[in-house]
Amino acid sequence: MNPYAVTGFRGLMAGNGPAAPRPRPVRRALFVDRDGTLNPDLHYLRKAERLELFRGVGDALSLAHDHGFLVVCVTNQSGVERGFYTRADVQRIHERLNELLRPHRAHVDAFYYCPHAPEARCECRKPGTLLFRQARDEWNIDMATSAIVGDRDLDVQAGRDLGLLTAVVATPGHEADPSYRRLRDSGAVDLVAGSFSNAVLRILARG
Ligand SMILES: [Mg+2]
Ligand SMILES: [Zn+2]
Repeated sequence: MNPYAVTGFRGLMAGNGPAAPRPRPVRRALFVDRDGTLNPDLHYLRKAERLELFRGVGDALSLAHDHGFLVVCVTNQSGVERGFYTRADVQRIHERLNELLRPHRAHVDAFYYCPHAPEARCECRKPGTLLFRQARDEWNIDMATSAIVGDRDLDVQAGRDLGLLTAVVATPGHEADPSYRRLRDSGAVDLVAGSFSNAVLRILARG
């Protein structure tokens, strides 16, 4: 299976055979980073059992759904190419994440991840925008009314390049990270929030 196949386009090409599916309705999306945003960044997390969510994430995602947002997680997982864990491990972590969200009546609608190391210079690793554009085409997402929440400058840079509303969460420990401080002080990000749920509430408040 080609993980980069852009299946959504087929439905949008008119008159191309009788079996062309109807395009999905246009949706707005809440793009979310994974590590350091939904869950504490445990650095090359391999075991799904170790995954835990930040407080308030479930309720915030549930609220985003109630407001009509599709929830799409885009994450860099260079540990795959580095050999720290496998694609199956990543898959299990994403299944576990949705298990943890279930009691909050929340879920992530779609996960997209880049398995490459930075040296590969691929287009899918954030701040590259390939995975976001793939999600846009597959789910018929209106980027102009969509938003991203992340914890790093690369999340914000991808969001800016795509014309998304950008929010960054100040994760404990990141205060010492110079790229985070630069980002906060640069004015390049639309919202700086103290928690994921605060970021989501402020995105929703923008209408
Ligand atoms: Mg992160
Ligand atoms: Zn990649």
